[in-house]
Amino acid sequence: MKKLNIFFILILPIFFSLDVLAEEVNLYSARKEHLIKPLMDLFEKETGIKVNIITAKASQLHERIVREGNNSPADVLLTNDVGNLWKASNINLFQEINSDFLSKRINSKYRDPNNRWFGLSLRARIIVYSLNRVSPNELKGYKYLSDPRFKKRILIRSSSNIYNQSLIAHMIAKYGEEFTENWAKNFVNNFARDPAGGDRDQIKAVAAGLGDIAVVNSYYIIKMLNSDNKNLFNNLGIYFPRDKDMGVHINISGAGLLSNAPNPINGKKLIEFLASDKAQKIYSFTNFEYPVVKNIEVPNTLKYIGNFKEDSVEISEYGRLANKAIKLADRVGWK
Ligand code: FE
Repeated sequence: MKKLNIFFILILPIFFSLDVLAEEVNLYSARKEHLIKPLMDLFEKETGIKVNIITAKASQLHERIVREGNNSPADVLLTNDVGNLWKASNINLFQEINSDFLSKRINSKYRDPNNRWFGLSLRARIIVYSLNRVSPNELKGYKYLSDPRFKKRILIRSSSNIYNQSLIAHMIAKYGEEFTENWAKNFVNNFARDPAGGDRDQIKAVAAGLGDIAVVNSYYIIKMLNSDNKNLFNNLGIYFPRDKDMGVHINISGAGLLSNAPNPINGKKLIEFLASDKAQKIYSFTNFEYPVVKNIEVPNTLKYIGNFKEDSVEISEYGRLANKAIKLADRVGWK
């Protein structure tokens, strides 16, 4: 009995302290666990730092971090869409990261001007169209999707979705609010149906003949091309909207280091890891997003739909103009 007591007194505290000393990083992720798991597994393997993941919607994580305040265990927030990152940095949830590695590898267009968030993967919001009912010659930039000839032919998800809010914000940055409002009014008039479902549903709806043109994110197309839905694309074309004023609308997924991060050094390491060659390759091969870092190997399907001219806008503009975009969408009745 005495021996057992000595065990508890001497040995157990060592177990506990080892646990306390173990290196870890706490990740709040608005990206689904299956998308980030391969990245986190590799990070753990390479650094020995354990990643504790909490996943939820971007808005829920945002609220949670605010609520937790100084006591928040969160080190890194990972999310899609620059609008979400901008919102967090706008209320000072992020701290600045000084990292030559990140600054060198990530184009300044795809990170916060004050280095509080960094884009880690790119996605293009582009067009899928019916090869039977649309000639590619009819297609130009986003601006022309408001033409009366597209009446009742366009499919796109709700404006409550941040992908569309960022697209509208981009149009405002490009053409001003008045022009964009008029554009959006006519664009909504061209909808084949009230917005319903996600991006994949819009593609399926074009294939089913419910409309002729869908506006969707690039990785959904590539995922479908790599799935049983591949045959849908026998009669579908892919187009990257562009005209002389505006190139392709690009958005990011990205991350920031939280102001109250209890493990800031590990948090910075994690974000730097996500910009490494190995991690960037995982983004393109498993998530089918474009790497944010140049000269990373990509799968063939990504090459196949990867030939586009991106617009020159600084994408932090989407965040700055997000509120205007949301109100504008309401005014024109984009559900
Ligand atoms: Fe998505």
